[in-house]
Amino acid sequence: MKELKSPVDILKIVDRSNCRKCGEPTCLAFAAAVINGRRNLDECPVIPKEELAQYSIKGRRGADMERDQKQFLDLLKSRIQQTGLEQAASRIGASYANKKLTVPVCGKLVSVDGQGNLYSEIHLHMWLAVPLLSYILDCQGVPLSGQWVSFREFSKGMEWYGLFHKVCEESMRKVADSYPELFDDMMDLFGGRKAQDFHQSDIAVTLYPLPLVPVRICYWKPGDGMESSLNVFFDSTGEKNLPVESIYALAAGLARMFEKIAMRHGVVVS
Ligand code: SF4
Repeated sequence: MKELKSPVDILKIVDRSNCRKCGEPTCLAFAAAVINGRRNLDECPVIPKEELAQYSIKGRRGADMERDQKQFLDLLKSRIQQTGLEQAASRIGASYANKKLTVPVCGKLVSVDGQGNLYSEIHLHMWLAVPLLSYILDCQGVPLSGQWVSFREFSKGMEWYGLFHKVCEESMRKVADSYPELFDDMMDLFGGRKAQDFHQSDIAVTLYPLPLVPVRICYWKPGDGMESSLNVFFDSTGEKNLPVESIYALAAGLARMFEKIAMRHGVVVS
């Protein structure tokens, strides 16, 4: 079996026609999506079916994780069907009208109906649907403290931190290294606000992916022989307003969206 380790390996087996039959704008975008676990090799109709079995994708866990996320999403939807959305509105900083709960998500309005279906003016990645439904169900409505803590400081944070650092912080750092406009996009596209003098970072931006779960993303540029660094901070009340597993899913969803934005600008994040 031949292991495909990078987008370049995949480019060698598609015909590079940029025909878009896979739904991606270019073969390069498709190749990067396969390596990142968001697409499957068999979604390119140009690769002969009989050849697919001879390839494996290095470190491929993304597809499995997406399947898990889908099952978890179905579970959350069934819980939403038994929940009073109207009663949840004031607790979670949302509004209720026409049988839908509307939540501000990164400056955009996202509505949820009684079946757990989402409606929005923006394309919603499934990885953000999970934390949003989880927020509606489990948010305790604790007011923000204004104190920022690392994911590690949550009660179950240490257990999850290895995965969190790799999937969320390291992925975001790689995007920021290759696509420095990322932080401007956070402010322009996602209603982010620049935070001043935070832990001596070169730039820090606060996003509001959920009203009571703000996220502060801090980036230190490379220099003096040191690699760049990126850390994500949360309000200390975070785990009271969202279970730690869903905080992880929220940050992972943001990391994926940032990768997509960089790719849309022709940047391949390796
Ligand atoms: S379908 Fe295959 S050949 Fe066409 S753009 Fe996608 S990856 Fe490229």
